[in-house]
Parts: sequence; structure tokens; C-alpha cells
Amino acid sequence: MPAEFVLRGAQVVEPDHMPCALDLLIQDGKIAGRLTPDTPVDASIPVLRADGLHAFPGLIDAHVHFGFGEKITEYSTETVYAAQGGFTSILGYFLNNESYADVYEREQEYARARCHVDYGFHFSVANEEHVRDMPAYVNRYGVTSFKYFMNFKGEEGRYLGLDGTDDGYFYDLLKMAGTLPGVKIVCHTENIEIVNRLRRRAQSIEQPTLKDWANAKPPFTEAESCVRAMYFAEQLGAHLYIPHLSTRMALDEVRRWRSRYPHIHVETCPHYLTHDDDSTLGSMGKANPPFRSKDDVEAMWEGLRDGSIDVVASDHVPRKRSTKERPFWLASQGFPGTATILPVLLSEGYHKGRLSLQRVAELLSRAPAQIFGMMPRKGTLQTGADADITLVDLERSRTVRAEELGSYSDYSLYDGWTLKGWPVRTIVRGETVMQDGKIMGEPGYGQYLARPLVS
Ligand SMILES: [Zn+2]
Repeated sequence: MPAEFVLRGAQVVEPDHMPCALDLLIQDGKIAGRLTPDTPVDASIPVLRADGLHAFPGLIDAHVHFGFGEKITEYSTETVYAAQGGFTSILGYFLNNESYADVYEREQEYARARCHVDYGFHFSVANEEHVRDMPAYVNRYGVTSFKYFMNFKGEEGRYLGLDGTDDGYFYDLLKMAGTLPGVKIVCHTENIEIVNRLRRRAQSIEQPTLKDWANAKPPFTEAESCVRAMYFAEQLGAHLYIPHLSTRMALDEVRRWRSRYPHIHVETCPHYLTHDDDSTLGSMGKANPPFRSKDDVEAMWEGLRDGSIDVVASDHVPRKRSTKERPFWLASQGFPGTATILPVLLSEGYHKGRLSLQRVAELLSRAPAQIFGMMPRKGTLQTGADADITLVDLERSRTVRAEELGSYSDYSLYDGWTLKGWPVRTIVRGETVMQDGKIMGEPGYGQYLARPLVS
């Protein structure tokens, strides 16, 4: 597709109004105009017809993990996977103990030549040097979000090569964040001291189930940790983002705390909307946080509806199936997920009357763009924004087969599920990178997203 065209016939989906017929003029990779349907334009401008389709602002997966796929090539495989799912931007986490100056240079070299969609980074802060260097990471690399694991006390983070931290470290980190308005601290909330004991006891169970796994991490260990994070953040003026929230108890705490301290954002993941702890998937269903009760699943849908959950993101971990097919306690945690987020929300949410299309556009595009400093370039179809557009066929049913989606990982939690509502074209800055399941763009087309500080 040339860099200039007019997209005609689609129903445009935006958070603030019902879907409506609107034509979009695209020039130089940007939205150059919003036209009432069939407004005449210069005959030399090509027309892309999208009758019967819905045009969403390009989707953003704010929670992807880098470093778990095939090193280096994961930037192509996982961005192909994102494009297959209608995602035009992804934000990936690094978990390193070394300086991120080194990590940044090295990873950019790989990523720059390979990404199919736009990409940005979150850094996990794990040592004193990382906290000290946060202003430099912001200024030099446009990285404005930092992850902290409240559960990495003692030896818990050792499997990732990370030192243990404590509340004093957390204090210093939030204090630094408070001096960098707009920086988001992404906080894994889990009271590991309690979980450690419960998990040790559960390890004597001979055939552990996902219910045993959930029981080792009861809801209050998430909720209590959320409260502490919010309390700390309020005291130090830091902006908090709670990823992969999974329980009603924690969500209720967030609702309460927000009236007192507004700088709190919440994300949940697709699997907390579709799976509960009665699941018989065994080690295949192992995640942290674990699948929760049916009531918790219902609470997540309520949170999406009433706005107390801001974002849905995948927590994408592109490991192989073989890392799951191990004795329960040794199996890896988490799943690949970017490419199935939208079909899950449309099939289980929109088509079941639980979620409007406007909310889907908010959860998957505008909110992550706003929270992570990508607005107004991303997350909107307003004039001047990047022409990132996800064209969706709401009526299309398709059975999930992981091998068709392109990730390095070779399975999906949704393998064999027939989901209704799929992206049929992914447009990044005016260029089609995926059409009907075919990858059109070149590796290396994806651009790095340096994010400015916006409070
Ligand atoms: Zn994660």
C-alpha cells in the first residue's frame, strides 16, 4: 500500500462514542483527515475499502517479556505474532542485573533490524545502580516505566539472576520516581513471605492441581501487597501501575485507594478473564498470579466494565510447550498471549454482552498509550496521530492454532478454542504489516518508541 490512501467504509471504533462510519485519509504514515463517508478526494489517491470491518486505533500490548524466546530472533518472531493479533506497538520488559546502558545498546542492535511493529522497553530495577541511573534512562533512552518485584525478597529473584531487595530499596526507588513526574513504577504485588511458607507446605502434595497452586498464593497476599504499594506510592508521590491484577480483593482495595490517591493504574490479563482454579490444565496452566476463583474472574469483567481496570495486556512469555510439560513445581510460569488478546475480548466480552467495543478500544489502545506516554502519537485516530489501525472482522470465527500465529513458542492457552472476532489487517504508520494472516512488511520496519515524560 502506498503511503497515501483513503480508508473507506469501515466503522471507526473510539472510546468516546458509538462506532460510526468515518473515512480516514492517510498521508506520510499519519492520519491526515477524518472525512464523512464518501467525501470526494483527489482521484489520484488510492482507496482502501474496508466495508463490513471495524477500524480500531492500533492496539498496544503494554506487557510483553523479552529474553524468553530465541535470543535475537525473538524480535522478529514475537512482533510477527503481535501483528497477527492486530497489535501495532508492544512494550517489552527486561529483567537484568547489569546496567541498562549495556542492555539497551545490545538489544537495540537486535531489535532495530528485526521488529515488524513499533516497540518500546520497560526496565526492571533490581539494584542500587538502576535506581541511581533512572533519570539517565529516561533522558537518554525514553524509557519512562520501571518494574519492581515486591516478591523478590531473599532468594526469590535468583532464577532470573536478580539480587533480593527490601522495603528500604522500594522506598528509594519510589522516592526517585517521585522526582520524575510521569514515570510509572510497575509493581508486581505479592507477599512472598507468606507465599513461601504456603508453597513449601503445598510441595508435599503428590499430584498438585491448579487449585493447590492458587491456595499457595491466596488473594489477600496480592491485595495486601497492593495496599502497601499504594501507601508507599502516595507517601512518595510516585505513579503506580499494578500489572496482572487477578483478585476481587485487590481490585476493591484499588477502588478504595484511588479516591485518596489518583495516580494508580491497573492492568489485568486475558487468562484471568477466561480461566479459573477449577481448570484441569495442570502444569500447562501454571502462571503467577495463578488462575483464581470464578468470582474473581467475574470481578475482572466488572472491573473492565466499570473502568476500575485500565488496561488488558498479555504478560506474553514466549517459552516452548516443553517448559510447561514438567512436574508441576518445576514447570515454567506464564504463557504466550499477544495474538489472542483481541479475539478473547471480542468473543468472551463483546459477543457475550460484557464489554462494549468502545471499552475494548480504551483498554487495548488509548489507555496504554496515555499511561505509558505514547499519546498523542499512538492510541488515537485523531488527525496528526500515527496511522496505526487495526481492521477487525467482528463476525469472523477462527479456531486458535498456535502454529499459525508465528511466535517462537509452540502452544497457546487457547489452542482449539473457536473465537469470534479477529483482526484481518494490521496497519503500522500507514503500511500494512499483516493482511488476512499473511505478514506483508519487512523485518526492521518497526520503530523504537522513545517515550517522553508526561505527568
Ligand atoms: Zn510479566
